[in-house]
Order: sequence, then structure tokens, then C-alpha cells
Amino acid sequence: MNKANSQTTTTRYTKSAAAHAEAKTLMPGGVNSPVRAYNAVGREPITIAKGKGCVVTDVDGNEYVDYVGSYGPLILGHAPEVVVAAVTKTATHGTSFGMPTLLENQLAKTVIDAVPSVQVVRFVNSGTEAAMSALRLARAATGRGKVIKCIGCYHGHTDAMLVSAGSGATTLGTPSSPGVPESLVKNTLLVPYNDLAAVEATMQAHKDEIACMAVEPIAGNMGCIPPEPGYLEGLRKLCDTYGVLLLFDEVMTGFRVDYGCAQKLYGVMPDLTCLGKVVGGGLPCAAYGGKAEYMRQVAPDGPMYQAGTLSGNPLAMAAGLATLQALKADDFAAYAQLEKSARRLEMGLAEASASAGVPTYITRVGSMICPFFVREVGQRVVNYDDATACRTDRFAAFFRTMLDEGVVLPPAQFEAWFIGTAHDDDAIEKTIAAASKAFVVASDI
Ligand SMILES: *Cc1c(COP(=O)(O)O)cnc(C)c1O
Repeated sequence: MNKANSQTTTTRYTKSAAAHAEAKTLMPGGVNSPVRAYNAVGREPITIAKGKGCVVTDVDGNEYVDYVGSYGPLILGHAPEVVVAAVTKTATHGTSFGMPTLLENQLAKTVIDAVPSVQVVRFVNSGTEAAMSALRLARAATGRGKVIKCIGCYHGHTDAMLVSAGSGATTLGTPSSPGVPESLVKNTLLVPYNDLAAVEATMQAHKDEIACMAVEPIAGNMGCIPPEPGYLEGLRKLCDTYGVLLLFDEVMTGFRVDYGCAQKLYGVMPDLTCLGKVVGGGLPCAAYGGKAEYMRQVAPDGPMYQAGTLSGNPLAMAAGLATLQALKADDFAAYAQLEKSARRLEMGLAEASASAGVPTYITRVGSMICPFFVREVGQRVVNYDDATACRTDRFAAFFRTMLDEGVVLPPAQFEAWFIGTAHDDDAIEKTIAAASKAFVVASDI
């Protein structure tokens, strides 16, 4: 399986290998987030020295067109001038106060203006924290204990949500984790994604017990799986019928698929929304928000407690603001450009896989894209079972070839690839050329 591996790691990746060997003695897996360890693709991770635009450079000096994009935040690419300038200027005036700043008002106003269902917002430091807090709020607001979650959706690593949680957890074969007490997940009810009948049956079976239905409006942590037509509308109706709050986890989709997030794109309004990734412009920042009647229950307006030493810190606020301003500029020109680049990549990948005889099912919403290595031409991927049935061995071979050709992808079949405004035509064409070779290699597996 590791033919390419043995040929190349010793020469091209020497310094990365040394760095990772040391890292492994210092940190679990040598990383600070599991999927970075490349366990699913039979390689050692590259160690990054720097990034600019759509290109990252590793410590050996190799350059790669990057589709990781820090797993979503970097919609403007690496070190965009507007963000660097905003962060630099802000840092010289202090990085955290534990007292209010004007920047918090500005980003809050920007988020509330942009996201249709959000009337009041609270900033936190990570998507995990946003999901954990929104869940607590849903329980507090309804006085109910149970939550529904889709198999394969990821809502961060908070205990109650670490059940069948997609991507990292899937790749590592730990769909739930030791250390999560059963008592904490027994109130988490699981349904397949894109299956309204399962949601209805669950709500029927647990009437008056369910606080919220949590969902990624576009599933982005089991590859990229768009909602089937009518799915989100159906969830909204079921939630209304059963008095359940609808929670959209838009940590990945927020500001990525549309400036108004997935809720605007599909025209379905949740009660609560989690944001993260793009909203922080590459710094640690996330948020939860929603209808005022719920958000006013958060302390100190209400009794639901949630706090954070670095929440709303000036650097993250400045980076988020600069990013959202850039996305909004020139009548949202960034999104038209993202759509054009992503569409070209999608077409190129489809042609390259077909001509190599590798069956793929390519999903895409705006600048989130995922080629699933399905077993037969014509197979669709609409839920977790479909995703996990894919040829991960072929993906791994494809990934390794892409890396050697100078394109770095998220290192698992169950991750979406992220295109940014910095991916120009040259980068996209280079990617398609590399993919033409990589699909041929994968076809041999
Ligand atoms: C990334 C992600 C999270 C977790 O965010 P972190 O900042 O990594 O804690 C939660 N939900 C979704 C949908 C995500 O994509």
C-alpha cells in the first residue's frame, strides 16, 4: 500500500519527519488535533513553516496548493493582507481585557445583520464551546433533557455530542470515546442524516422530552453531504409540531456557503445557530446565537450560565470583522468567485476520475467539495452509511499522490475540501493535473 511512501518520505520530507518524530515524544500522536496525524492515509504529516494565499510551505521547503484551509476558517487564504493588518494593529493596543470593547459590538452587529435567524449573539472560543453552550441553552429554554443528533454529524468534542460524530472520530474508529460517561450520552438520540421519517419516529416516541434537534445543515464532517431537497424544511415542520428547538450547527457552513450561511441559502430558519471557523478569520473564535426569546436566557440576562476568559477577545474580533468585510465587499463578489473556482475544480475532478476509471460521487455546495470514492458508478452518498462504505484505501492512495504532486488535502475521505478566494485559475488547473495522475494511481488499488 505504501509504494509512494517508501520512495519519497526519506528524501522530500526529511525535516518534516524529524519534526514529527520529536513531536510524537511531546504530544499525543505528535499533534494537537487527531486528524492532523495522517493516520488514515499511511503517511507522516508534513510540518508547516508558512502559508500565503492558497499555498503552504513545509519545513523542507516544499510548496503545496492547500485545500485544508485550517479545516474551514481560511476562506480568504493564508495571511490575507486585510486580516494581517487588522490583527497587527489591534495587537499593539492589547490582546485581551476581560472588559468590553467596541470590536465586540462591531462583530456582533455584523453577524446579526448577516445571519437571518440570529437576533442576539454570544461569542466563545471554539465551535465545540458554541455547540456545548447552545445545547445547554436548548435544554434550559425547553426544560427538556433529550437531544437528537444525526449519525456522522460533528458538533465538536463535547461529551453529549461525541456519539457517531464523523470525520476524526470516524477515521480513528472511535465513533464514541472512552471517558464519555454513558449517563451523558443516554439523552442523545441518533438518527441517520437526510431521513425525516427517523426524526418523526424519534419525536413521536419521546414526546415532550426532546429539547432540540441538532444538525449540520450541510453535513461537512463525513465528507460533504448536502441536505436532500425538503430535508431542512421537513425538520423545521417536525420541530414546530413537537415543540423541539431546531439547532443549526453552522460552524463549518457559516459564511462559507453564503454570507447569510446555509439557513439563507436554503431558506430555512433555525431557532439557534452555532458559528465558528470563518467568523474568526483564522483566530480562535466561535459564537452561538438565535432568537432573542432564547438568547435572553443566557447569563446575565437569564439563568443559563456560560462564560469565557478570552471570549470576544480583540484579536479574534478584528480578524473576524476583516474577513466578513472582505466577503461582503463589491456586492459579495467573493462568493461568485468561489463558486466559479469550485465549479471548475468539480468538473476537472469528475473528468479526471472518469478517464482513470475510478468511480466517484462528487458533492459540492459552493466552496465545500468532496469526491467520494464510491464502489460503483452511479452510487450516491446521502448519509453516514453511504460515506463509510467508500473506498478509503483508494482515497489514501489518491491523497499520497496529490501530496507528492504538491497538493495538500484534508487527510481523510470523511473531510470536505475547502476552496478559498486565493485559489486562482493556476492553482485549480495544477490541482486538476495532479488529480489526473492521482486517480490513475488510485485505480490500481
Ligand atoms: C469544526 C466544527 C465544530 C468544532 O469546532 P472547533 O472549533 O474545532 O471546536 C463543530 N461543529 C461543526 C459543524 C464543525 O465543522
